[in-house]
Amino acid sequence: MSSSALSQPTLVLNRSWFAIATTSVRHALVLVYTGAAKAIRTDTFEVHGFESWARLEVRVDEPHVCSVDARIPIPEVVVLQRFNSVPRQRVAFSRRNLTRRDRNLCQYCGRRPRDSELSIDHVLPRSRGGSTSWENCVLACAPCNRRKADRLPREVGLKLLKKPAQPPWSPIHEVPLGRVRPSWERFLPASERGAAGA
Ligand SMILES: [Zn+2]
Repeated sequence: MSSSALSQPTLVLNRSWFAIATTSVRHALVLVYTGAAKAIRTDTFEVHGFESWARLEVRVDEPHVCSVDARIPIPEVVVLQRFNSVPRQRVAFSRRNLTRRDRNLCQYCGRRPRDSELSIDHVLPRSRGGSTSWENCVLACAPCNRRKADRLPREVGLKLLKKPAQPPWSPIHEVPLGRVRPSWERFLPASERGAAGA
């Protein structure tokens, strides 16, 4: 069984066939095996439980994983059978994701300068033990960043627009470009397809 095939992504749909997440092929197989999800044939939209999925004919050139006595097609898309079957994941902390969370706005003055003029501000400065985390980092424009420096917002008369927190889970955005499968196209809303095709 190829471990690289198992770590590739599978798209996860909720019971309304709305794409909510991606997971690894390995975890998708577990979801299907335990009945938490069913596998979808992306060409025919047929829905399969594990037994019928494992019995599907697989062409040698189709992506598959090998068990002891069978070639099992890789589930590229699965649909959950109940709500909350997939545990929430933390959205990776990165400048790109922080920019998305703060909508390109300085979190002190609310201005939207050019991206290059926005920097990541540690609300509790690193020099005082502040962490680099969703809860302690915000976007700040150059003037606010200079004014704040290594102090707390209230010490320099700045106030946050809102308390920083982990953004709502949206792991579809977490799939690195180029790793999104063409077969997902028809399961993604139009707004996601731009990223999928890139
Ligand atoms: Zn500002």
